[in-house]
Amino acid sequence: MVPTYATVNLTALAHNLSCITGYLSPSCKVLAVVKANAYGHGAVTIAHTLAKQGVERFAVASLDEGIELRQAGLTAPILILGALFEEQIVDLMAHRLTPVVSDGRILPALAKAVRAHPAPYQIHLKVDTGMGRLGLSMDELPAILDAQILRSPLQIEGVMTHLADADGEDSAFTERQLGAFHAMLEQVRLRGLTLPLVHVANSAAIVRFPEAHFSLVRPGIMLYGYHTLPASVRAPALKPVLSLRTTIAQLRTIPQGGTVSYNKTFVAERPTRIAVLPIGYADGYSRQLSNRGFVLIQGTRAPIIGLVCMDMIMVDVTDLPSVQIGETVTLIGQQGTESIGADEVAGLIGTIPYEVLCGIGSRVPRFYEST
Ligand SMILES: *Cc1c(COP(=O)(O)O)cnc(C)c1O
Repeated sequence: MVPTYATVNLTALAHNLSCITGYLSPSCKVLAVVKANAYGHGAVTIAHTLAKQGVERFAVASLDEGIELRQAGLTAPILILGALFEEQIVDLMAHRLTPVVSDGRILPALAKAVRAHPAPYQIHLKVDTGMGRLGLSMDELPAILDAQILRSPLQIEGVMTHLADADGEDSAFTERQLGAFHAMLEQVRLRGLTLPLVHVANSAAIVRFPEAHFSLVRPGIMLYGYHTLPASVRAPALKPVLSLRTTIAQLRTIPQGGTVSYNKTFVAERPTRIAVLPIGYADGYSRQLSNRGFVLIQGTRAPIIGLVCMDMIMVDVTDLPSVQIGETVTLIGQQGTESIGADEVAGLIGTIPYEVLCGIGSRVPRFYEST
């Protein structure tokens, strides 16, 4: 018996994928972003499920994430979005992972390693058009595009950029980034380099900027059922994929004036029945939810009282007299007619659903269901 677990609904995942493809023209494909353990959902099962649904390409942040997917039998192309270090090249190639080159200084080492391979090795180039993070600057681009090693033994399979403000209120910055990206594409085409793959759009841009779709889009958060679009944009009808649940471990009543958890931050104003739940910040349930968050018990909201501990939280169930030890508690997800989304939890603690989802700890098992 596992008291604390996440359930991952693969039917909801398929629904969200079809919401995404609904925005795309037939020639534009999905490069599914499954970094950070598929935003906490379990990268191996998510990637295999998406592959069965027709997704042909995947992206992760780190080399190790890519190796994990290869070792789990995923044969599709896997793009490593994060920075590549020279010391990683051997493993990268051994696992047939596709690097994103964001800094020209890695190219000679890549080319040298590739010479041992029979066929040309494909890479993607990333340009920085305003994110101010990884990427080749527009200034250094021409010299890199002229490099002979990008014709052989390397081969540019794709070019990409990343949008900084696709979910912002104002679209002006995104339009400027897209303008810079088009100028970069022109530089590539002037040199007669063919580009099978061009990709820019994250989830928000899929919805808001059809002109950013190119040949691939890179959805992450929308696959998992959330978005951060401004209220003025008509959002897709996504379904949250993950539910986080636990089980009541103990019930006790403390007298008026009694306190709960470390540092006595909760003082009972009435005799208070508390339920002790075996989940804490080590499971990714943020300590900032202390005296602030809610859980669902019997389809009703029960408030978290006192500080969130590493392995436990306490909730006030005074108004739910029939609760029993062993009852299921929902921290994220639906119970009866009530639900708590990762976006609501995020809002309580001043963050975004991404952080709530990918923060769910490694000791929380993920169970997969199809409904
Ligand atoms: C994480 C990431 C994405 C996915 O972004 P979402 O907002 O989750 O859709 C796309 N591209 C890059 C480069 C990323 O790092």
